[in-house]
Amino acid sequence: MPRNSQRHFLNDMKILIASKNKGKIAELQRLLSAHITGESIELVSLDDVGFVGDIEENGSTFAENAMIKANAAAAFSGLISVADDSGLEVNALGGEPGIYSARYAGEAHDDSANNEKLLSRLADKNDRSAAFVCCMACVFPKDFAKYGEDFTVFGKCEGEIIREYRGEGGFGYDPLFLVSALGKTFAEMSADEKNAVSHRGKAVELLGLELCARIKNKI
Ligand code: IMP
Repeated sequence: MPRNSQRHFLNDMKILIASKNKGKIAELQRLLSAHITGESIELVSLDDVGFVGDIEENGSTFAENAMIKANAAAAFSGLISVADDSGLEVNALGGEPGIYSARYAGEAHDDSANNEKLLSRLADKNDRSAAFVCCMACVFPKDFAKYGEDFTVFGKCEGEIIREYRGEGGFGYDPLFLVSALGKTFAEMSADEKNAVSHRGKAVELLGLELCARIKNKI
């Protein structure tokens, strides 16, 4: 249940998640259903609506990239569309890798190469503080204009980059990202533990609350 212990009810709502990643859709469905429920709310993916090809993420911020993806999905489908963009910001590296998190060590999107590059860039740094940031954008196509302006929400999780890998779970930078308050890396947490504190979990919660505020009473 969300922190405010309120669930909101939406009916006959189909929302397009601008991703082809089934794992991400399933995770969002689970997280969002904690905040929104309804007889026929349905999350669909780009594959479900027949979107082929890639959306070029050429923005210079997480918010720009999330908006680019949500706008492209909404223009293609005519559905309310949600997209996210996230990454790791390391203070001693001036916010690197930031929007380049997936391809920090090259276009191959290789998690272990990215982690090794991060460790080597931080080798002589004492300040190991970092944060994961997630932006979620929601776009209302013209048939849904009564719900108001498009919007973005942000989630952040503060932590530090440790010097050795810890934990087997998760993906990306998870084994190097220690949530100091819990004494665990993201890779040492269960999915539920991670969602309760993660940048994505927080952003999804805000997205659910904002969507409900817009849509409630106007269905
Ligand atoms: P995306 O925007 O969610 O696809 O994330 C972009 C990149 O940021 C991923 O490929 C990872 O390198 C990194 N990243 C984002 N969220 C996480 C996370 O929760 N754990 C580890 N790495 C993440």
